[in-house]
Amino acid sequence: MTSSPDSVHGTPGDAFVDVEYEQPDQAAPAAAHRALAAVPVVCSTRHAWARVPAEPAPAERERLKARARELLKAKNAVMVSHYYVHPDLQDLALETGGIVSDSLEMARFGRDHAAQTLVVSGVRFMGESAKILSPDKRVLMPDLDANCSLDLGCPVDEFSAFCDQHPDRTVVVYANTSAAVKARADWLVTSSCALDIVRALKDQGHKILWAPDRHLGGYIARETGADLLMWNGACIVHDEFKAFELEALKKEHPRAKVLVHPESPADVVALADAVGSTSAILNAARTLDATEFIVATDNGMMHTLRQQNPGKVFIEAPTAGNSATCKSCAHCPWMAMNSLVDLVRVLETGANEVLVDPALIPRARQPIDRMLAFTAALKAGQPVGSLVPHIGAA
Ligand code: SF4
Repeated sequence: MTSSPDSVHGTPGDAFVDVEYEQPDQAAPAAAHRALAAVPVVCSTRHAWARVPAEPAPAERERLKARARELLKAKNAVMVSHYYVHPDLQDLALETGGIVSDSLEMARFGRDHAAQTLVVSGVRFMGESAKILSPDKRVLMPDLDANCSLDLGCPVDEFSAFCDQHPDRTVVVYANTSAAVKARADWLVTSSCALDIVRALKDQGHKILWAPDRHLGGYIARETGADLLMWNGACIVHDEFKAFELEALKKEHPRAKVLVHPESPADVVALADAVGSTSAILNAARTLDATEFIVATDNGMMHTLRQQNPGKVFIEAPTAGNSATCKSCAHCPWMAMNSLVDLVRVLETGANEVLVDPALIPRARQPIDRMLAFTAALKAGQPVGSLVPHIGAA
C-alpha cells in the first residue's frame, strides 16, 4: 500500500516525514506472537512515509470550506470524518449533515445514509470498510495514502499463515486492518465493542487469535480473562504514551481525571480513571465528576472534547520526557494527511475513489456484519448469545 513520495499528489509547501512502525519478524514467525504477553517477541522496525499538508492561509481556508459545502450539496455526497482528523474536516462534516465519530459509527453511518457518495476523512482502512459495507456507493478519500501502523504491520500473507498455524482459534481482528485481513477473520471489533464481543465468545468456549494491536489485545485479555493469542502490532501514536511522565503530570494536576485509549501500554492504562474508545472517552469527559482531564489518545480528539465540554480543561498526556522517543507526538501522521485542499480536489474531480477487490467483499463483509448485528442487539437490549455460536456448533 505504500508508494514512493515522488509519485504522489501534493501541493507546494507540503512536506514528507519518515514514519517507523513495527511488524512481527517474518523470518521467525513461530517467535513473533505471544499469548497474554508472556513470551518475548521478535519485531522488526519498518519505514513508511506520511505527507504533511501545508496549512492554507485564512482567506484560502474559508474559500475552500465554502467550496466544499457547495460541492457536497451539488454531488449529493456526505462526509464521514474521524475524531483524529483536522478540526476543519470535523466541523464541515457536522455542518453538512455528516458525522464525526469512531470507526464503528463511521461504518454504520455510511452504510445507512442515503447519499450515493461517501467522503471518508480518516485512514485507508476506514475507506475500505465503507466500501465493503456500501459496494454500490462511491467512496472517496482526501488521500488514499493515509495509512495506519496496525494495518501496515499486519500483511495478509503473514497473517494468513499465522491463522493456518492455529485452526482451533476463532479469528478476531480489530477494525484497523486491510480488507484482505478482514476477509480472513471470523469477527471484526472496534475498541468500543471489543470487550463485549470477546466476552461473549469466551462464554461460548472460543479460544481467540487476536490481531493486530498488542496493547488492546492485552487489555481485552486482562478484562475478560479470554485466551488470546496475539499478533504483535502497535499504534505508533498510543504506543508512545509514557507512564512515568504521566504520573508526574498527575502530581501537577491532582484533581484531574485520566482518560486513556486501550491502544496505550498497560502501565499507562493502569493509571486511568476511564479506559475506552474515543466515544467512551467523550462520554467519560461529559459524565465524570471533574473539570480537568488528562487525555491519552490522539490530540485530534481535543477539538471535540473542548467543543462538547466548554469550561472544562483538557491536557494532553505526555509522550515526551526522559523515557520518550516521540515518534508521533500524540498525533497520527496519516490522519494529518487529510486536508481541505484535497477534500475539494476529490469532490471536484472524483479522484481518490476507494476500490476493493469485488471478490473480497462478500467474505470481508461477514465479520463486519456480525459485529454490527451484535452491537445493534446490545444497544436494543436484546440477548446476544444466539449471535455467537457455541464452539463446535459453527
Ligand atoms: S492513530 Fe494509530 S491506530 Fe489510528 S490510524 Fe493512526 S496509527 Fe492507526
